Amino acid sequence: MSASLPPLREVIARHGLSASKALGQNFLFDEQLLDRIAAIPGTLKGETVFEVGPGPGGLTRALLRAGADVIAVERDHRCIPALAELADAYPGQLRVIEGDAMEVDIADLTGGKPYHIVANLPYNVGTALLTDWLSAEVWPPAWRSLTLMFQLEVAERIVAKPDSSAFGRLAILAQWRSEAKIAMKVHRSAFTPPPKVMSAVVHITPASAPEGIRPKTMAALTAAAFGQRRKMLRQSLKGLPGALDALAKVGIDETRRAETLSVADFIAVAGEMERGR
Ligand code: SAM
Repeated sequence: MSASLPPLREVIARHGLSASKALGQNFLFDEQLLDRIAAIPGTLKGETVFEVGPGPGGLTRALLRAGADVIAVERDHRCIPALAELADAYPGQLRVIEGDAMEVDIADLTGGKPYHIVANLPYNVGTALLTDWLSAEVWPPAWRSLTLMFQLEVAERIVAKPDSSAFGRLAILAQWRSEAKIAMKVHRSAFTPPPKVMSAVVHITPASAPEGIRPKTMAALTAAAFGQRRKMLRQSLKGLPGALDALAKVGIDETRRAETLSVADFIAVAGEMERGR
């Protein structure tokens, strides 16, 4: 632990890191809050953490304090010198890569070792990356957990249960072979500058995958089912080969709407589609 680190606000002033709206920058400074976020994945001593969007490094500091080996990808080149100072303060524990998280190869960076992913990201980038991480062909994936800040409304969609307006593709994707929960709500005033909406940290861990279902089949089924969420399944699944037959075989009434089906129902239908191929 390096007690000699200057306060984050000073680092920001010295490196001229005014928050950029275009990069979705809302920084966290409260050390206690950051330590609580870094504790969500469980003990990190000696574990590899892939952090996306470290910015000036508040969350990165908390991860380093927890003893993690951190690989951090940041797109904003202005932040790189500030992060380099942090790497100097924790020798051998932090590697910083300037780049776009959507383009880097995590397996390559982590050398094939298992890792945790932690990020406080702009919400559009976060949702795209989450979808990607949850769509891995091989399951369980190389990541052991995802600890991700989202705007509260998106977090609620990720953990949503059937028969709610938040229940849709994101919920199925996050729940058909993972456990997803809201670990912490974060008030907008915790950020600098404060965003318009509340946030929440979602924690996701891989669970066992139902056998024989390819992620692309589940993706196609949920895209069709929720593409026209107000319509009956009879209508919304019409264009997806094998889906209506599978629905009948599983015994689900085709006059129901997608949001009334459970995650287990989606698994049953996707499994039947795979068997019917
Ligand atoms: N982690 C810091 C914190 O909690 O205070 C910063 C959070 S700020 C909401 C999001 C960070 O992600 C910014 O530093 C931004 O530059 C970075 N970022 C945005 N898009 C990115 C991308 N595609 N790849 C890597 N970093 C990105």
